Parts: sequence; structure tokens; C-alpha cells
Amino acid sequence: MDTPQYHLQDTKNNIKRVPMLVAMAKGKCARCRKGNLFKGPFTSNTNEVCSSCGLTIERNPGYFYTSMFVSYAMNVAEIATLWIATSVLSGDSNDPWLYLSVIIPGLLLMAPFNNRYSKVIQVYWLDPGLKYRPELADTFSKERKEDESELKEAVSEP
Ligand SMILES: [Zn+2]
Repeated sequence: MDTPQYHLQDTKNNIKRVPMLVAMAKGKCARCRKGNLFKGPFTSNTNEVCSSCGLTIERNPGYFYTSMFVSYAMNVAEIATLWIATSVLSGDSNDPWLYLSVIIPGLLLMAPFNNRYSKVIQVYWLDPGLKYRPELADTFSKERKEDESELKEAVSEP
């Protein structure tokens, strides 16, 4: 986690810090924790750039290839959980069809969640080049607003 000194600096500059798990749950940008990673609340399609800090979200071609491995690990954990839950709730049943009829629909139901959060886990935990920079929040959106107002002025001038 962050060093206490960094914390002090930030409170001095009055920069609002967002806790990592909150930002992850909400699918926020890993750099500013303010802009959205995804195009909507239930989709795993990512935005091109962060609306708040301007980070290119798919940082290079095939960037989210890594999230496939995360998704695979999540699936394994879910299979184990469903397997144990079925075993406990059925009184240690020996029927393989019972297990399959719980695990397969369970995984299909979890697929959208896995797609979305495997990407979140990748950008937060598996990308050493991405660090939390709360001071960058709103820099891009502000710049864009300024550009737009300049453009409007230029257009409205005779
Ligand atoms: Zn951002």
C-alpha cells in the first residue's frame, strides 16, 4: 500500500483519494479511480480512453489477453465453490449429473461478471506500469472542456 508520507502530501494538496476496492467494485480507471473503465454498468466492453484522466484503457493491442488467464482462475475458484456447496447441500451426493447441472449453469451465470472483473483485476493488480495518481483525476475532462469552450468562442466570433 501507499506510504504514510504520500498520504500526508495528498491531504495537503487536498486531493480526494478513492480506496482501491471501492474503485475496483465500481469498475473505475486504475490510474485516477474516477473515470469509468467500461461503457456501461453491466458490460465488459471497455471505453477507449478514461474520461477523467485520458488514459488509453486498452494500453496496447491484445492488452486484455492477460485477463483471460484471470478469468480462467476465477472459473476454477467458482467450480470449486459450487462443487463444495453442492456436496454439502446434497449430503455428499455421488450423482455426477447433479454436480454438472449446478456447475454448468452457475458458470454461465457468472460469465458476464468474470469477463468484467477479470479485466478490473488485470489493470489493478497485474499491470506494474499503472499506478494510482489521484492528482490526474479530471485533468483530461477539464482540458477537453477548455478546448470545447475555445472552439465555441472561435465559432461565435464574427
Ligand atoms: Zn483515469
